[in-house]
Amino acid sequence: MNYSTTREKIIDILRKTDRPLSVDELALILDVKLTAKEIYEHLHHIAKTIRARSRECEVLAMEPPHCRKCGYVFKDLDKPRKPSRCPRCRSELISPPRFIILRKN
Ligand SMILES: [Zn+2]
Repeated sequence: MNYSTTREKIIDILRKTDRPLSVDELALILDVKLTAKEIYEHLHHIAKTIRARSRECEVLAMEPPHCRKCGYVFKDLDKPRKPSRCPRCRSELISPPRFIILRKN
């Protein structure tokens, strides 16, 4: 699969899924060798393009990552990614962000 095919496939999966998916789950469904970093990069671009392409009918929603130890929620991420450590309790047990494409109205 080339780069744009992969991106279209991710969009397709996130449209059809009935629950938000993590990057690891996406990699399993895609069945291609992509690093988490590469998939996050795809998601970053999908978030920017899908809104324009659908004339704002669709949006890539992200369930933010959270700390599994103290419950801290990472609300202010500039880009989709999995933080390595909780700023509040220093735990590294971070639940990854999950993604889904939602249609408005
Ligand atoms: Zn924490």
